[in-house]
Amino acid sequence: MLAVQQCYVIKEAPGKGLGMFATRDIRRGECILAESPLVYGTPDFIETQRAIDAMSPADKESYFALHNVHSDLPAAIGIMKTNGLPLGVDSVECAVYKHASRINHSCDPNVHHAWHSRPRKEYIHAIKDIAAGSEILTSYTVEFKVREERMTFLQQHFMFECQCRLCATPSPEYDETVRRIKIYSDRIPPCASLQPRRSIQYVRDILALLDTIGGNGKTRFYYDAYQICAMYGDYNFAQKWADLLLESYIMDEGLDGDEYDVTCDTEMTPARMNVPDVPHVKSFLRAIYRRQFNAQPSSIGCFIYSAIVSIKKSFALALGREGGGLRAP
Ligand SMILES: [Zn+2]
Repeated sequence: MLAVQQCYVIKEAPGKGLGMFATRDIRRGECILAESPLVYGTPDFIETQRAIDAMSPADKESYFALHNVHSDLPAAIGIMKTNGLPLGVDSVECAVYKHASRINHSCDPNVHHAWHSRPRKEYIHAIKDIAAGSEILTSYTVEFKVREERMTFLQQHFMFECQCRLCATPSPEYDETVRRIKIYSDRIPPCASLQPRRSIQYVRDILALLDTIGGNGKTRFYYDAYQICAMYGDYNFAQKWADLLLESYIMDEGLDGDEYDVTCDTEMTPARMNVPDVPHVKSFLRAIYRRQFNAQPSSIGCFIYSAIVSIKKSFALALGREGGGLRAP
């Protein structure tokens, strides 16, 4: 055993080298890990090599113990390409971590990983309840790919054949659902400006389809619906979608990885929120959250949930509106 932390252990994962395992039951929404990088990487190999050379001996030991599938490259660069997690969704920069980089892949993951730029840490949150002893698994692929596409991607980039639940036993029904989600998803942007109602219907159809395959991946669709409603001035529905967006966002990424400056919350007055702008909604709710709960980040999923209910009530009061509840619009 290499490391023991609050709720996980890094140990041998049969057939996969090392992996991360839950040492106790973990609830959906809980923060499993918030970790600073061992080292950052960029597309510039020389710059990346320089950063690796400058690491402390202890960090170097952790770094060079990581898996490398790129034997054609210098080890330092191969490890970065194998283990680097991007600093945000579209970032070309990445970072390698002592523990987060040990999390193995599943096409049916139980955690979500996200980079938060203000604390400069990678956050790992449970997106499902995880039983003690289970492996903690994240997804290395892009969402909504069918089995064959996932297998090709994983083989090309990580050189392994996925044996997860979804890949081990092919499911034509699952692949068909994913295909339909992808089709509807592609139709939302062109439709949004001319046929907003139809776009919202696509979102609803996607949410229903997602429910049939585990319910993950809803956040971006709540955001699409929110944007469409806000764009057309339907602030009542925009607010309801924003509520769902916030709840889903917090479950996936937590409140502890705060990207917005809540210390400046005097600027987040309700007057500024006549147009429901998501960063402001989030910042305002977080500011209230921090005031009410004494500014301590929580890693307990159920506590976060009750906090959401509470901050939403405050939000509704601040705007002089009825509370929205957590139901779907
Ligand atoms: Zn798989």
